[in-house]
Amino acid sequence: MKKHNFSAGPCILPQEVFKEASEAILNYNNSGLSIIEISHRSKDFVDIMEEARSLALELLGLEGKGYKALFLQGGASTQFLMTAYNLLQSKAGYVNTGSWSEKAIKEAKLFGDVVEVASSKDANFNYIPKGYEIPSDLDYVHYTSNNTIFGTQIKDFPTTDVPLVCDMSSDIFSRQLDFSKFSLIYAGAQKNMGPSGTTLVIIKEDLLGKVERQIPSMLDYQVHISKGSMFNTPPVFAVYTSMLTLRWLKKLGGITAIEEVNEKKAKLIYSEIDLNPLFKGFAVQEDRSNMNATFTLVNEDLKETFDAMWKEAGINGVNGHRSVGGYRASMYNAMTMESVAALVDVMGDLERKA
Ligand SMILES: *Cc1c(COP(=O)(O)O)cnc(C)c1O
Repeated sequence: MKKHNFSAGPCILPQEVFKEASEAILNYNNSGLSIIEISHRSKDFVDIMEEARSLALELLGLEGKGYKALFLQGGASTQFLMTAYNLLQSKAGYVNTGSWSEKAIKEAKLFGDVVEVASSKDANFNYIPKGYEIPSDLDYVHYTSNNTIFGTQIKDFPTTDVPLVCDMSSDIFSRQLDFSKFSLIYAGAQKNMGPSGTTLVIIKEDLLGKVERQIPSMLDYQVHISKGSMFNTPPVFAVYTSMLTLRWLKKLGGITAIEEVNEKKAKLIYSEIDLNPLFKGFAVQEDRSNMNATFTLVNEDLKETFDAMWKEAGINGVNGHRSVGGYRASMYNAMTMESVAALVDVMGDLERKA
């Protein structure tokens, strides 16, 4: 039986994407060849790469607006340093909303001055800082749109002349935003788009070419752009599977359609967290993430019983991250309402039993 998979990443993808990707491993498009044994320079793969790049821009509403999409390797973690390598000339600002922001800050410090323009560290990152100033002399300001570990999500981004750079690893393609506000967006594939192994980078081209340092080819966005995201052998299977998910999303009606579903799923679980006296939400209400719901048991003595109950119900991956404890239900685009309802049912059963 297929489990209800709430894993934070790598995570669930649409079942039809799993099916099509697995068929392509054996025989891609009736070619008699596997998708993972053909040349990345073949027409078949070049077409896949081009479709993936253009679908990403199309779904974000960024076509014809001076942006390029790249599928790179090294995870979002490599983007922590690559963004600074390519963009940080003297000083950059970072909004620190959790562990991933902190890791990005650490890397950026290797390349120039870093100002933490705001932070929610004082409350173990259970909220999103607001009402801070962004100095005008920054090369860019960096955000983490959704804090996968703590379960907070930024709802409003500032309007500023400073270029916005955003790590959207865990909520890209999940909600409508004015994506043209951002100069650079990056996202590891394995949370809302595909298997691990590739990272989507969306860059406004006029942002580049402003730093004086020499940049090694593999870490230079301009090199990857000039080669159509094929400077070296791309992660072919990860790009292909990501492309299938983007096709799936487009067929469904794009980001606006999926956002509606995501809001319903989030409402369902948060209302259970709020109404069930045995549970307590971790993030402050107004900053709650629609992707990762974090919550704890009020009485830890019920842990063993609750854990046995959700396992029995075919649920997987709801243990919280060690820095928050408790539970985390990750509800990415491919998660069905039915799976969220299964978890909510178990939470209700616990209340009836306790
Ligand atoms: C998972 C995650 C990362 C790390 O991604 P890797 O691909 O493992 O490097 C970075 N940022 C956010 C917000 C994440 O959720």
